[in-house]
Amino acid sequence: MVPDDLPLSRAGVDRAALLRTEEGFVRTALADPATRVLLVCDAAVVTTPGPTVALLAPADVARLLPADDESWLLLGRGDDGEVYLARRVADRRPAPAVGEASDVLVHTSPTRTGPAVAPALPDGLTWTGLRDIGADMSAQEAGLATTAVALDAWHARHPRCPRCGAETRVAQSGWTRVCVVDGSEHYPRTDPAVIMAVVDADDRILLGHAAHWPAGRWSTLAGFVEAGESLEHAVRREVAEETGVVVGDVSYRGSQPWPFPASLMIGFRARAESTDVSVDGVELTEARWFSRGELADAVRTGEVIPPGRASIARALVEEWFGGPLS
Ligand SMILES: [Zn+2]
Repeated sequence: MVPDDLPLSRAGVDRAALLRTEEGFVRTALADPATRVLLVCDAAVVTTPGPTVALLAPADVARLLPADDESWLLLGRGDDGEVYLARRVADRRPAPAVGEASDVLVHTSPTRTGPAVAPALPDGLTWTGLRDIGADMSAQEAGLATTAVALDAWHARHPRCPRCGAETRVAQSGWTRVCVVDGSEHYPRTDPAVIMAVVDADDRILLGHAAHWPAGRWSTLAGFVEAGESLEHAVRREVAEETGVVVGDVSYRGSQPWPFPASLMIGFRARAESTDVSVDGVELTEARWFSRGELADAVRTGEVIPPGRASIARALVEEWFGGPLS
């Protein structure tokens, strides 16, 4: 079994869903000095050296950013009842120096609220991508940061009503958007994607290299589940489309949110019934079978760069491999 403590699947706080609908809950929480706030923007959170997620007091956030009722997300509640919020930030890039072309560094996105220029962070704090630190965070930090990044990505991409095109407003402590014209409610989206360790009768694993990846990066095959399709069918279809390999038995191994911007990665072990590989040349430019010895050698020499430590792909490969890859 892929460990159920996959880096971004961990969580250390109660999501407190029942509190979301309490009228004015975020304002009440912001008046409590015990409340903690993380800042989120574009798949990154503010961190302290370590790095660990920076959990700021409401007063600290008020000094950094103007008041904005549309930018708050309720993440949950800790063991001592303390509330965790995220504050969405419109832009995390620094303001341009005098004389620099401001249109390169600063933009005003219609999908983001608040000031378009990044807040000046206190010394020692910096923006760090969730993908970069996901495997190094505590369970509590991982749960908070992953939820904040997922909600922020949804708000940023869904400013308008999908029914009538009118503006929507944030409701339920950041968990819904409501159309100002027809009153329809809209909820955060999650898009299922399958990801699979395809293994043949000789216990070799099938890995591929995608066109848009850096040279040397090899990983498991993956793809989005299509409308009207089961997970098992998606596994077999994606493997056939990308490599021509026929897959038989498919077994579930585990799942991990991958909010870049909205995926839920659903991991499988898939048994190959054929071994001839022919890549489509579009999604994948190369694919091949690796024995454990071949993969260990290729990683050692740098010929193969395995998937990142925060990814479920890494966990699926290491589960097959029988231990850490490096
Ligand atoms: Zn509408």
